[in-house]
Amino acid sequence: MNFLIVGAGLSGAVIGRALADAGHKITIVDSRPHVAGNCHTERCAETGVLVHVYGPHIFHTDDAEVWDYVNGFARFLPYRNRVKSTVGGSVYSLPVNLHTINQFFGKTMRPDEARAFIETTQADTTITDPQSFEEQALRFVGRDLYDAFFRGYTEKQWGCAPTELPASILKRLPLRFNYDDNYFNHRFQGMPEQGYTAMVEAILAHDGIDVHLETPFTHEMAKRADHVIWSGPLDAYFGYSLGRLGYRTLDFERFTDTGDYQGCAVMNYGARDVPYTRITEHKHFAPWESHDATVCYREYARSCGPDDIPYYPIRLVEEKALLGEYEALAEAEDGVSFVGRLGTYRYLDMDVTIREALDLVPGLLQRFGTPKSP
Ligand code: UDP
Repeated sequence: MNFLIVGAGLSGAVIGRALADAGHKITIVDSRPHVAGNCHTERCAETGVLVHVYGPHIFHTDDAEVWDYVNGFARFLPYRNRVKSTVGGSVYSLPVNLHTINQFFGKTMRPDEARAFIETTQADTTITDPQSFEEQALRFVGRDLYDAFFRGYTEKQWGCAPTELPASILKRLPLRFNYDDNYFNHRFQGMPEQGYTAMVEAILAHDGIDVHLETPFTHEMAKRADHVIWSGPLDAYFGYSLGRLGYRTLDFERFTDTGDYQGCAVMNYGARDVPYTRITEHKHFAPWESHDATVCYREYARSCGPDDIPYYPIRLVEEKALLGEYEALAEAEDGVSFVGRLGTYRYLDMDVTIREALDLVPGLLQRFGTPKSP
């Protein structure tokens, strides 16, 4: 069968590879000049630093099968994401852990003391079932830590009040009563030695896959395929006929310097009066490399216009209603599978994207057959 895959990001590459392995013929189109979507990495010609062009991507997962999958296409080297936050003239450790709590309150508490301190003097225990981001923060860390680390950052990141955002966004971050400052709780974490673009190129390196870059999708192309896998924005497939789903986009103010600019990969800025959310220093994402110069991004979030790159689906009440309508249209579109972050309008981490892509394949093979036994 002939499959047309729109988008050469993680979803498109993983699905394309599995279908090609099963003997199908795959054409992938992508409007950008590179594969790997928003996890694209590129070496800076001036400094040699491997840059995460669309902002930092750190691979972390609990899914052993997904971890084995990515390690089959790239050598992953150990990387621990350790994030700092500059607030009120001090630098703190994130996610909020015992070091953050002791430093912030000027104390030397042990784990149980800190837990009791937060629960009795900080947390708002009258909130029994937190619904919003703000309620979740007030319930678990209390007003002082919320105001310092989460409130301003979240307003900048999402462009709305944290009372309007779901608690699930904050639930991404752990709260720890020990000195573990690993940003993620997952068993597996690392970075592909040569970057994500090299990894996606390896996934796509198959005789049955033809990749056409700088090639925007047209509905004419779809007519020549037996089935379409769409990883572009869900609303874009339907020509935005019902209106646009809301996204946040990011602007990066890139600058280079000599030496080490900030001493870590990610420095967040919690305060509202600093216009950017964070500064990322890309050579620290590849700590096994050594460079004299450095490349940094100041990161600004804003609402996504028609010509901007969509990053974060907003999914507030109005988007959810519109999403339901687009989902109904997608459901009725028998010749198309909608996949990935943009195709399903969800805030997906890379590992979940790969898991969902792998899980889609058996159904497609059942429907379209397996020309070649694996
Ligand atoms: N967040 C915050 N302060 C921080 C870091 C994160 O308030 O210093 C909030 C913010 O709303 C963000 C959410 O926590 O969207 C989840 O953080 P995470 O680091 O998972 O965001 P990502 O950049 O990966 O989307």
